[in-house]
Amino acid sequence: MANKSKIPSDTISKIKAIRKQQLSADDLAQGIFEGNKAMLAKAITLLESTNPAHFEKANAVIEKCLAQPSNSIRLGITGVPGVGKSSFIETLGKTLTEKGNKVAVLAVDPTSSLSKGSILGDKTRMETLAKDPNAFIRPSPSGNSLGGVAQKTRESIILCEAAGYNVILVETVGVGQSEIAVHSMVDFFLLLKLSGAGDELQGIKRGIMEMADGIAINKADGNNLENAKLAVTEFSRALHLYPPKSNGWTPKVKKCSALENSGIKEIWEMVQQFVDHTKSNGFFEVNRQQQNKNWFVHTVDEYIKQFFHQKETFKTEQARLLTEIEEHKISPFYAAKILLDKITEEL
Ligand code: GDP
Repeated sequence: MANKSKIPSDTISKIKAIRKQQLSADDLAQGIFEGNKAMLAKAITLLESTNPAHFEKANAVIEKCLAQPSNSIRLGITGVPGVGKSSFIETLGKTLTEKGNKVAVLAVDPTSSLSKGSILGDKTRMETLAKDPNAFIRPSPSGNSLGGVAQKTRESIILCEAAGYNVILVETVGVGQSEIAVHSMVDFFLLLKLSGAGDELQGIKRGIMEMADGIAINKADGNNLENAKLAVTEFSRALHLYPPKSNGWTPKVKKCSALENSGIKEIWEMVQQFVDHTKSNGFFEVNRQQQNKNWFVHTVDEYIKQFFHQKETFKTEQARLLTEIEEHKISPFYAAKILLDKITEEL
């Protein structure tokens, strides 16, 4: 245990004062631009807050950060629990920071609000990377909807980029719809897989294969190496059956071992090839713009929904109409129209 009495009391009070300090949006943005991790973390906490008072300030910080130039690569990483995501991120992250990159690791884990313990929330994950001065790791925001959780992570990307992180790794659990959300905020989407008994392609969601820009067969080590080589062939063959991507990129399959740090460099080279390819054909920028537009449209839809749902008339009319539907007095479609008419009358 640290001996607290060794720290002079005036120093302790100074630290407490800083902690309590009401930082303005300008202070936070300035701290972020200076690469101050504590300020970055504070700003992310602010944007994750559900307190409406924090909303304006968080947006002011985001706006300032948006104006910062950034040359980042956003990489999404998915795979079922146990495939080796955190080991992979740890190994890749260290390789990248050793080369002078600044790496931020964010996550989208909507399971944290459903089950008590989140799938990605384990504190012991990525221990070495967490201590790296050039890495910043932030667990998934909590929230009661995937949309809400994903939006916070999407906004955190902007703050991390403004803090000088040039590689943004966004991890997600290979369950539910969270992959679609992460795909909509990254440049490159990597699927981690395991090799098994030759039935790799069974049970894999078609949509995930279609979204992947690359597949990495992890745990290609020891007795598993031969299986991994077979899996590479099998997945490569399967990927050829999908229609070509609009960005002109042919998804690739690689094998790696996060444990032995083999094949990781090759996977990063693949990501860089993708970036070169999509930057030269213009897709990189167009894709980011399209993602922004999609987020806007989607968020407006959400706001409209919230706006109506919180109206008292909406609640009472909905309850009344639901009873009528139950009693077969009205069709669900006509009831929907009546409800909307009633609400719009009030506006
Ligand atoms: P996650 O749940 O997807 O984040 O998976 P973890 O990174 O926690 O890894 C799950 C288990 O697989 C751990 O026991 C790791 O040590 C092990 N593991 C991860 N990567 C490798 C690898 O490349 N080779 C081997 N043999 N084991 C690995």
